[in-house]
Amino acid sequence: MKTLKILFCTSEVSPYSKTGGMADVTDALPKALQQLGCDVRIFTPLYRCVRDRLQDLTLLAEGLSIAVGIHDYHLQLWETRTTSGLPLYLLEKDEFFDRSHLYGTPSHGDYEDNAERFVTFSRVIHPLCSRLGWYPDLLHLHDWQTALVAAYHYFQWRHDPNFRGSGTLFTIHNLAFHGLFPGSHFSLTGLPMDIFTLEGMEFWGNCSFLKAGLIYSDFLTTVSPTYSKEIQQPRFSYGLEGILQRRQDRLAGILNGIDTSVWNPAMDTLIPQRYDSQDLSGKARCKAHLLSDLGFPEESRHKPLLASIGRLTTQKGIDLLTTVMESLLDLPVTLVILGTGDTELERQLQQMESLHPRQLRLLSLFDESLAHRIEAGADIFLMPSRYEPCGLNQMYSLQYGTVPVVYATGGLEDSVSDVMQDTDGTGFKFYEYTPEAFLEAIRSALALMQDTPRWTEVQRRGMARDFSWNRSAREYLSLYERILAEKG
Ligand code: ADP
Repeated sequence: MKTLKILFCTSEVSPYSKTGGMADVTDALPKALQQLGCDVRIFTPLYRCVRDRLQDLTLLAEGLSIAVGIHDYHLQLWETRTTSGLPLYLLEKDEFFDRSHLYGTPSHGDYEDNAERFVTFSRVIHPLCSRLGWYPDLLHLHDWQTALVAAYHYFQWRHDPNFRGSGTLFTIHNLAFHGLFPGSHFSLTGLPMDIFTLEGMEFWGNCSFLKAGLIYSDFLTTVSPTYSKEIQQPRFSYGLEGILQRRQDRLAGILNGIDTSVWNPAMDTLIPQRYDSQDLSGKARCKAHLLSDLGFPEESRHKPLLASIGRLTTQKGIDLLTTVMESLLDLPVTLVILGTGDTELERQLQQMESLHPRQLRLLSLFDESLAHRIEAGADIFLMPSRYEPCGLNQMYSLQYGTVPVVYATGGLEDSVSDVMQDTDGTGFKFYEYTPEAFLEAIRSALALMQDTPRWTEVQRRGMARDFSWNRSAREYLSLYERILAEKG
């Protein structure tokens, strides 16, 4: 069979540039696809943080000229390989990308020229392919930053014989981010003026880059099956349910995988004692270490240890957690929270910690090693996200025998099965977004913990689940093949 050529067009790729889960996908999925025999290459901006991590670059093109609005930008293209040997192409335009952050600063918000930055990045893909003499069968696009590529392909590139029969797949990692700019910015795109309408890229007078991806790509995916259904409803759609309903036969959800070479308690060198589903004794030692490292009193060893890791935001339901906190801490439990984010939520949690120092610890930092130790040491993981396109921590928790309590939404719904409803349950879910329902699910988990043999069974079932990228990559490969078959 012919080798499929796929170009990942992405504004983030781990470990070089990352603000969220998208960067993990654009790192792990190409690797897994390569193992399935695809020719996968990645194109991304040469941000300052990328340059700091990659020294060995080869110049591909110098002084390349791209017209954006009234400007004629001159750019460089570079080539290197990722640590796993995949070709990685980089757009150098220091005026745009040699900055402290990817999209904006915490103090000043989004960069004002984000439209110019990502129009330029998207438009340069055609000259990149010409320079390489390599034309992909599939352009795989990710979130609003590369959504315009779908429109360029639809209106311009597919008429080029080199792109004939090629397709576009647009993956929505989080529909909350629209790439919304003043309507006057539409002219920067160079796209036909008659698509700046409600049916096209206009969104209440503004210009939505995201809409270009939703409308003009051949196929759409979300990062979990349930999220692909949820975003067709007004509650989750940010005003885009009409388009998404219209395209529902071109919309599918594929659950992200996790890196099982990094998140595996049997091989994890970041945790004090390794363990597996056959022998969970190492997990008890991880708990003892963690409690002592966090300075909890001796008595906490005999109490369930609950944990939460992630951004401190309302999306992640940290406000729901603060609402139930007093009732939760009335129970004989210990709780550790690792996360940074919303300053008001952080302040509230700090205040609660000062009132309950023997039961609650807030660690306001980003620390991957600590995240591993918490996953290994905790008994129960709390993830009350309001919405969750996929979510990774619940899958890490399952792999570490840390039983998750989640709201039944998006990827949480798809990756956790409910002990209260399924004989092969792996965690606990709540179905109404209320403090009572959340507390009730936590209470059910605590009650089952008293029954050690049944609890161990639940832990073992979670640890046995296959969340490898290999599984997800096979689904993407079938989808690529379907898109290309439909193109004839
Ligand atoms: P998001 O919506 O933030 O992408 P995910 O659950 O998909 O949420 O992925 C978040 C990733 O970032 C996970 O790998 C999680 O462990 C990690 N993470 C988030 N906050 C922290 C933190 N404070 N310290 C360490 N790791 C964190």
